Amino acid sequence: MSDNLSILLLLLFILPVVYMIDTSLVIIRRNAKHAENRLASLTTCMLALMIFFQYLLQLLSAEYTLTIAAYLVYPASIASAGVSLWFHLTAARSYHRFSEARSIGIAFAPLFLYFLFLFLKGESFLFLGVRTQELWKQAVFAPAMYFMYGFLALFTILNVIICLTAAKKAKSVAERKKWMVLFKADLYYQLATIFVLVLVFVLSSYLYIPDSIVFLATIIWGISLRIYMKYDILPSAKKKYELLYQFSPTAIIMLDKNMMIKEANPGALQVLGCQREDEVHNRAFSEFIVLGERDSLKKAYASSFPKSAWRNRELTIMNRQGQKRNILIDTESMAEGEELFVLAVIRDITQQKEEARLVHFLAHHDTLTKLPNRFHFNKELEASLEEVKSSKALLGVMLIDLDRFKLINDTLGHQYGDEALNEIAARLQNTVDERHLVARLGGDEFIILIKKADEYDEIVSLAENIHQAFQLPITLQGQDFYLGGSIGISVHPFDDDSSDGLIKRADIAMYNAKHSGGNQYRLYTNEMIALVQRDVRLEKHLRQALKRKEFVLYYQPQVDLATGRLIGAEALIRWQSTELGMVHPGEFITLAEQTGLINEIGQWVIAEACQQGRLWQEQGWDDFMLSVNVSSRQFMQPDFVNKVQDILRSSGLVPDRLCLEITESMVVNNLNVARKMLDELVALGIHIAIDDFGTGYSSLSVLRQLPIAIIKIDRSFINDMDAYQGGLSIVKTIVSMGHDLRKQVVAEGVETLDQWEQLKRLGCDKAQGFYYHKPLPLTEFNTLLTFHIKK
Ligand code: C2E
Ligand code: CA
Ligand code: CA
Repeated sequence: MSDNLSILLLLLFILPVVYMIDTSLVIIRRNAKHAENRLASLTTCMLALMIFFQYLLQLLSAEYTLTIAAYLVYPASIASAGVSLWFHLTAARSYHRFSEARSIGIAFAPLFLYFLFLFLKGESFLFLGVRTQELWKQAVFAPAMYFMYGFLALFTILNVIICLTAAKKAKSVAERKKWMVLFKADLYYQLATIFVLVLVFVLSSYLYIPDSIVFLATIIWGISLRIYMKYDILPSAKKKYELLYQFSPTAIIMLDKNMMIKEANPGALQVLGCQREDEVHNRAFSEFIVLGERDSLKKAYASSFPKSAWRNRELTIMNRQGQKRNILIDTESMAEGEELFVLAVIRDITQQKEEARLVHFLAHHDTLTKLPNRFHFNKELEASLEEVKSSKALLGVMLIDLDRFKLINDTLGHQYGDEALNEIAARLQNTVDERHLVARLGGDEFIILIKKADEYDEIVSLAENIHQAFQLPITLQGQDFYLGGSIGISVHPFDDDSSDGLIKRADIAMYNAKHSGGNQYRLYTNEMIALVQRDVRLEKHLRQALKRKEFVLYYQPQVDLATGRLIGAEALIRWQSTELGMVHPGEFITLAEQTGLINEIGQWVIAEACQQGRLWQEQGWDDFMLSVNVSSRQFMQPDFVNKVQDILRSSGLVPDRLCLEITESMVVNNLNVARKMLDELVALGIHIAIDDFGTGYSSLSVLRQLPIAIIKIDRSFINDMDAYQGGLSIVKTIVSMGHDLRKQVVAEGVETLDQWEQLKRLGCDKAQGFYYHKPLPLTEFNTLLTFHIKK
């Protein structure tokens, strides 16, 4: 053999052998733990061996040719075809139901058959002999060998089928792509084999080429495997990331330069509300973004591609299920082949956001009424103040305190108290423009921020509307309750320009509204502070007044209009304070009610009056009626009736001489309880009068249900009698209505002779007022009485 020939053989065979061995090592080094890797490596190794044996066959003399062919070259060839099928079956394990054992059985059947033929029938059954031509030596196939190769051709077709079915069943785009790559590799390998075969056949008449050259086509296989590795068909360390990609709950998508989704892992499909990857494949990611954020995102993407590296970019998506989800997106660019992509990691923070929103809501809202709370109000007030300071607009703070909320809570329980608060909250919200803010400060206090008003009148008319909203009753358990609200208003820039100052001043104004009897609104004035300061002082001294015996009773005479006879008196309390001088009840009764001191004071009044009544009785005045005022809080004490009974007994006053004056609101608000108590009081033998009649809300039907003996027409109606025509007819109506109901009618606050005469003509029963006498200290009253008795 010439040296030239040896070099040619070396080139022909050794280079492919080295290349294939190298490929085999690369595969096994990637990840030897995986069966697929080991099998691919083994296939390649077998092919390398087969080529090497061919080389050996050419190098040695012709006498060895048949042995080498029969025991080395062809077994290696058949084995590699078998291992290749085994590799395909293993890689496609999740797409078919062949067990490992059965796969191996099928894959090695041809090799088994080959050796069976070889040992049972001998070499001659497989090979006809050896052909040598020029430098080539070759074993000549017997028909059995063609049969064997037909078998192997079937295997390669099987490989192709495995690739195609696996690609079809693949769960992700990436998986499918890999199977298509393997399919192409198989196909190219086969095409190369066929091409070489055809070449050999066509060229055979011109020049001799041995059939064994066909084996060189296996190099295509080696090249293909290297390509698979690029696409990661074979498990590698990278496969771990692939698994992560598939199974991690983190959503990962791959986007191309047009923001088209190229890949999406199961986590991403879940976020996007899809079942399968093809629902999102090649769709624009921006389709999932809510309209408001879409355009800006597109722009940002286009301008940052491919260097995009977003960190925690927050987006809102609308997924396929129509759910809005908040996501955080991180991106990083990556290259795959020639193309550039963006890999995006998505975190669904919807729940976090919702929780944060809830926490925020709870921190800013009152849980009962769902109105904003004090904290939220303060923040809004600060912000609105800043805004308004630069303009000429006004800003108002309106503080509302319910007048009789405690009554509901105490008599019906907290459940109904809550219901009432909710009703008030709803009314306030309906009354106040959405531009402004209604908040609950806590308890029965509400506050309104009038963010911006152009005129003072706007604020006043809103106050008027809110006041009106309080004039409707709240129905609870079938009963109507008139809660009433005291409203205090402060206005920026007139009253104060700090948020604290405005709230404080609204509070002072509210206090004044309450002090003036409640259920009204007051705009803050500087003079109001004096009242508050005075009340603070008042309260301090009021607590000691009883102990220091500073209270006295004045008596205002009551006269029978028809006869002009003195027929009774109304006891009116006065406070002769060492520190403050003479204090009228108008100044301290509300305060006493608020502080609860009224119970003791009221008790003292009744006892004192009854003792005095007893003395008059003893003095021989026997047809009088002594009226005593009772406040609502005092009346609501559960043991009130017992206390009155005790006082009557210990004083010795005939019950028929005593009249308790109550107001309409006290009974209307709690009709059932009130009726029961009044019945008990009347059963004691005393009388009940409705004071300030006409200013409350009582209807005739209510009055009819209650055991009331006397109606006292409020001073304001008497005052109006000569002021205008209608004034007189109101009094006339009350008198005749009272008489229809068989009640006595008393006029109070009679100041002029004219009023006196008119009332007399209308048939009003009794009168009291400055015209006749002011409330008198006891000594003066007694002088009057002696004169009267004598007469
Ligand atoms: P009231 O029950 O309506 O008592 C009548 C008030 O009108 C008295 O004021 C009396 O001085 C005043 N008055 C009487 N005649 C005239 C008149 O001709 N013209 C005018 N302008 N006023 C007249 P006073 O004594 O200041 O009492 C104010 C209110 O304080 C009373 O109104 C009553 O609601 C309350 N009050 C007085 N004493 C007591 C008490 O012992 N207990 C309770 N709970 N409240 C009391
Ligand atoms: Ca009275
Ligand atoms: Ca009165």
